[in-house]
Amino acid sequence: MLRVVVLGAAAGGGVPQWNCGCPVCLMARTENPELRSTQASIAVSADGEHWFLVNASPDVRQQLIATPQLHPKAGQLRHSPVSGVILTNGEIDAVTGLLSMREGSPFTIYAHEKVLSILRANSIFNALNENNVRRQPIQVDKTFEPVLPDGAPSGIEVLPFAVPGKSAWYLEGKAHPGGDIGEGDTIGLRLREKASGKYFYFLAACAGVTDDLKSRLAGAPLIFFDGTVWRDDELISAGLGTKTGQAMGHIAMSGDHGAIGSLAGLDIGRKIFLHVNNSNPALLRDSAERKMAERAGWQIPADGTEITL
Ligand SMILES: [Zn+2]
Repeated sequence: MLRVVVLGAAAGGGVPQWNCGCPVCLMARTENPELRSTQASIAVSADGEHWFLVNASPDVRQQLIATPQLHPKAGQLRHSPVSGVILTNGEIDAVTGLLSMREGSPFTIYAHEKVLSILRANSIFNALNENNVRRQPIQVDKTFEPVLPDGAPSGIEVLPFAVPGKSAWYLEGKAHPGGDIGEGDTIGLRLREKASGKYFYFLAACAGVTDDLKSRLAGAPLIFFDGTVWRDDELISAGLGTKTGQAMGHIAMSGDHGAIGSLAGLDIGRKIFLHVNNSNPALLRDSAERKMAERAGWQIPADGTEITL
């Protein structure tokens, strides 16, 4: 049985974002606390005992407290069920949670060399002592099986693949520590339980749906997909920012080339948006946008939602 817990569903900043007075953030702060959401991450396990995080958000401490499956084992002075963290990009909302996991418990970081180069270039990540926290390079189109702290296989096979995207925004206009060319800055994952063959896809950042991606995702029982913005120009038209979704490496939910339209009719079992920005009107349960997304078979999960395959 493959178990997945949504630790957080929000994009960078979360809901509400500390400095934001947009309608969603205002409501989340006051009369609609159910709108609150931490920054995107999931936890996956094949045995229910050892878990792998996909990305480590700045909210990871709060997420681990809120998730009983990830608490230390009863009777142990120091323990964590977290055996590893698989990174899909180098954005702040995907990697900085590692800094909250520096207290000496052994786990492995799995990331593409492009992202590992960012960790190496920022000495603060040396707080994760490599004697306890191994950094394992992963490659696109090459499956790997993450391991438990004692080296035993996890029973989960992971296939990383390149998806349209960008390098982390703080590197814009700067030299990338891993070199400016080549893929690996944004990857998607297929996670499959080896024993049962059950699998799902995780793409929390994706700038567009190509024909290749469509054929890859067709027939999948479950996908987590980039739900950052409803409209490409949403941040600009709301007066919240100067960038389009595309400029940030994120596809919109709506529109001719949006996620909802592009991924329709592919016989995907369950479609879940992750990395939803607080500007996105689909977060509001009664909004026309939410209804459109739901009619097309999409869900926006509450933090803590558990799914078994
Ligand atoms: Zn806001």
